[in-house]
Amino acid sequence: MKNYINGQWTDSLGQETVPVINPATEEVIGNCPLGTPQDVDKAVLAAKEAFQTWRKVPAIDRTQHLFRLKALLEENFEDLVKLCTLEHGKTIVESRGDVRRGIQMVETACGIPTLMMGQSFEDIAAGIDCQAIRQPMGVFAAITPFNFPAMVPFWFWPFAVAAGNTFVLKPSERVPLSQLKIFELIEKAGFPKGVMNLVLGGKDVVNALCSHPDVKGVSFVGSTPVAKHVYQLGTSHGKRVQALGGAKNFMVVLPDAIMDTTVKTCLESIVGCAGQRCLAGSVILSVGKAHDEVKEKIVRAASDMIVGDGTDPRTQMGPLISKASVERVKGLIQSASDEGAKVLLDGRTWTGKGYYLKPTVITGVKPQMRIAKEEVFGPVVCLAEVKSLDEAISWINSSNFANTASLFTSSGAAARQFSYEAAPAMLGLNIGVPAPMAFFSFGGAKDSFFGDVKAHGQASMMFFTDTKVTISRWNKNSNIW
Ligand code: NAD
Repeated sequence: MKNYINGQWTDSLGQETVPVINPATEEVIGNCPLGTPQDVDKAVLAAKEAFQTWRKVPAIDRTQHLFRLKALLEENFEDLVKLCTLEHGKTIVESRGDVRRGIQMVETACGIPTLMMGQSFEDIAAGIDCQAIRQPMGVFAAITPFNFPAMVPFWFWPFAVAAGNTFVLKPSERVPLSQLKIFELIEKAGFPKGVMNLVLGGKDVVNALCSHPDVKGVSFVGSTPVAKHVYQLGTSHGKRVQALGGAKNFMVVLPDAIMDTTVKTCLESIVGCAGQRCLAGSVILSVGKAHDEVKEKIVRAASDMIVGDGTDPRTQMGPLISKASVERVKGLIQSASDEGAKVLLDGRTWTGKGYYLKPTVITGVKPQMRIAKEEVFGPVVCLAEVKSLDEAISWINSSNFANTASLFTSSGAAARQFSYEAAPAMLGLNIGVPAPMAFFSFGGAKDSFFGDVKAHGQASMMFFTDTKVTISRWNKNSNIW
């Protein structure tokens, strides 16, 4: 595995590697080099030089590279899907979603001439006009997590690069294969050398990017402690930083919800991608008599799920990313039990190869329990009974996280109250995974997001460009005309 710097596949200067493991089989499928600050220096220098010419390429010409990449991504779609399942473990259907959502970012960034357009106003004073344009800024970087190996880097770089910036990507060292393949396609798409750079590695690369004097801004997606660290380090070095962190997502079920669809949707939200999504539901807060019906139906549906290797088309849920993740989630299940909750369906029964944990259902969850407060990132359904929508909203709003929350109801009035009062920044109304598409902004609040400007959509233009305002007065020279 090599870095891609200045249009060349380049050996990492790092001496250390970490094994990349197929979590379904525990086989080592590669070794990811841990890059050094010197690798970052080389990549940033290449990007800085490329910026001098790339920013002068007209936007419609810049997007031709993205159009070509989109075609190449479609041609290689199923190969990318397989790689994603191989290194992450998610099912083939889930990997198709991962890659498809990534491609949609490229498609949306092709609209850069419209996205990036500025503003102008005639006669701000007599005979004086004003225009505000958006200019690219230079080198941007992204640091991404393991859970969407194909998609997450696309949240950032197509928008940044279409706007005329150049880029350095550091993907998760646990899942570098999808991005290595995508960079082969980026190379084929013919981006000029230095516009797109890839540096493989871990925290040394992250810290070097966050403190490099020639990096203008850093986009981060990952766990909350690292998001906070990246935000603090990057901003203390004068950079723009958008850092998307962890989550604890609640789903409220009112008695007037359409129950069969609601239970199916909640379960899919919680166990999809084996629970390893920042938008995964975690705690179902059922109001009044909804509780018993949700409990009975969800236990049945969860125990019917087929768990196994994601490459098998029958599989409905794949493994977790690592043995450590399985142990961590098992520990959280145990803590719930120790704190008085009841494990109705215990998924800690897998034996044999692979980092599996079957769907688990816990009832009697209370706000002060660890499992109610911490991100689980595993297929664990937590059930709690609440008396009213007000109580559910105040529970949600007491969480340190505020990524998403969902409400299931047939009542417009309840939906409006929820949208108005619930703190999370991405809400679902009868939707289990409220993931904004490429043309909307993406990002939570509280400990789920550090920064001011969220990812993709129109918002990304505020992050990846700076505005320049020109005020002009042109007095008529009557001697000439
Ligand atoms: P992680 O924080 O362990 O790693 C994310 C990135 O940070 C990786 O590239 C990694 O190399 C780097 N990193 C890890 N430790 C570091 C350190 N000490 N110093 C500097 N860099 C470090 O996250 P993960 O386990 O890969 O991903 C799962 C987390 O990501 C979950 O918490 C999930 O909620 C979150 N996530 C959030 C969103 C969102 O939109 N908010 C989306 C996807 C994932």
